[in-house]
Amino acid sequence: MNLIFLGPPGAGKGTQAKLLSARYEIPQISTGDILRASVREQTPMGSRAKSYMDSGSLVPDEVVVGIVEERLQKEDCKKGFILDGFPRTIAQADSLKVTLDSIGKNIQHVISIAVDNEELLTRITGRRTCEKCGKGYHVSFDPPKTQGKCDVCGGDLCQRDDDKEETMRKRLTVYDLQTEPLIEYYSKQSLLRTVPGTGSIEDIQKSIVKILEATA
Ligand code: AMP
Repeated sequence: MNLIFLGPPGAGKGTQAKLLSARYEIPQISTGDILRASVREQTPMGSRAKSYMDSGSLVPDEVVVGIVEERLQKEDCKKGFILDGFPRTIAQADSLKVTLDSIGKNIQHVISIAVDNEELLTRITGRRTCEKCGKGYHVSFDPPKTQGKCDVCGGDLCQRDDDKEETMRKRLTVYDLQTEPLIEYYSKQSLLRTVPGTGSIEDIQKSIVKILEATA
């Protein structure tokens, strides 16, 4: 099963992709995670991507297209894959098609997760991550027992630079301008299904699985 998750930052693409990845035993390919790892490791690609990411802009298409192209050739993608946060522009979607054609694959489903902007701002600006072990929290919906400290390892909780309110507003504008056109792009190919991204994580997962299994 080859899937794309589409949706604004904070819609829950990563959470849902992770659950589906475990359920169907196919990898979750998150360009955001791959880029953040490159920034942490200070690779040449990470150094190039950092300023775009910190400002809430998209990293240039050729950088992310290269990452995905390489990743999709790996053995673990044979049974399927879940693209989380890619494509984010029409040019990326066109390149993805060329890559998939060249390896004899295609996309079977594009799941768009819809959440309104005010809800997204609340979700994202409250997000915190443990610097040490990476566990995620939310200041209102899933707070740690001790403010600012990880329940598991006692590490300091930090906020991603691009989760700060001003950058988040920029990311939402970037989404509307550059990524939202993909909804029409994939609708025209009859691949798109939209799922409301509000409600419990489990209920959203159930709606997604229902779509995938009804059309499998
Ligand atoms: P995410 O974790 O998916 O929200 O991604 C965090 C940041 O990484 C984005 O705001 C972009 O700067 C960059 N990024 C991730 N995926 C892409 C992509 N497909 N195209 C361009 N930039 C991306």
